[in-house]
Amino acid sequence: MNIPVYAATAVMMALSLNPTHVRVPAYGYHNGTVLIDITLERAYHSLVDPLRPGISCSTHYPTPLKMPFDVPIGSGRPWGRNSVTACGDLMYGVQRMWDMLRDWLGRDGIDGVGGGVPARVEWNPPAPVPPPVVDFVFRRDADNFPTSLDLVGHEYGHVVYRTTPGGAGEDNESHGLNEGAADIFGTLTEWYANNTVDRPDYVIGESLELPSGLPLRHTYDPSLDGHPGCYSDQIPDAEAPAASGPLRHWFYLLAEGSHPGGGNPASPICAGGPAAVSGIGIQKAGKIFMGALNHKTHSWRYTSARSASLAAAIALYGPLGPECATVQAAWDAVNVPSQPDDPSCAPPHPGT
Ligand SMILES: [Zn+2]
Repeated sequence: MNIPVYAATAVMMALSLNPTHVRVPAYGYHNGTVLIDITLERAYHSLVDPLRPGISCSTHYPTPLKMPFDVPIGSGRPWGRNSVTACGDLMYGVQRMWDMLRDWLGRDGIDGVGGGVPARVEWNPPAPVPPPVVDFVFRRDADNFPTSLDLVGHEYGHVVYRTTPGGAGEDNESHGLNEGAADIFGTLTEWYANNTVDRPDYVIGESLELPSGLPLRHTYDPSLDGHPGCYSDQIPDAEAPAASGPLRHWFYLLAEGSHPGGGNPASPICAGGPAAVSGIGIQKAGKIFMGALNHKTHSWRYTSARSASLAAAIALYGPLGPECATVQAAWDAVNVPSQPDDPSCAPPHPGT
């Protein structure tokens, strides 16, 4: 054969540059039909993300799900019991979260250094394996897998939390902050994806369609879930879901405010708080929260989150803008007290 050298080189380069990436439809239960980035291996689709290192989905861990390339990935609604469908939803959700972290929060990968963690979809609570792996266990109460955008963002939000400085902490209050942070990342992921089937909102787990007709959690008013939305001296003794209430509530007030309108619900202000809070939008709220997490310590408390988020708002937007003032007002609105060494939203050197 007489193939021109330049043509053969071009073909080899095309094959070697990105030989295995394909973007294909996934027929989701939670998300409708969406596109996901996976790997083509000969005649098989492998649910390994070739663009986001470490991201994959298994139905028989540790082997990533692999299927003939001409078999559709997922069966859509109403087949919530299909674990392949769950892996399709999972890949879409974690890919949107990865991109949200990059585009909105300036974070490189789930772990901050360009990496991710594999997921396993399981019928029953699996035998523990050493991290890193993220589990999504079939919910019998909902008859589907918890692989919606907000719940994928929640579980991978725990990975973000433990890979920011200070790690995850050990006591109830740090577990509560970890849980609240996970819901914040779930909400950010849902808003970034802007999916037409699972529309962005400020509730968590609504697309499970539990028999109660309720979502798992309401960020704008944790009392609807029987959890405190206001900080008090009970929080350090509360279990994580309850101890996370004030953080979810704070984030909603920061993003949307107490009376946002535009289809977003009103949010109560705790006794002794300001008359009202005006939100600064979810992207700014997310950037400020990420900035605070980047200065987390092992023994983080609500009061330390308050101080760190004020510092983050000042670093991002300066002390005099609405951002710093709203961070402060939103903490006041959920009764997290100011600390003597809190960064000040006032000018650093006031004139006399
Ligand atoms: Zn959690």
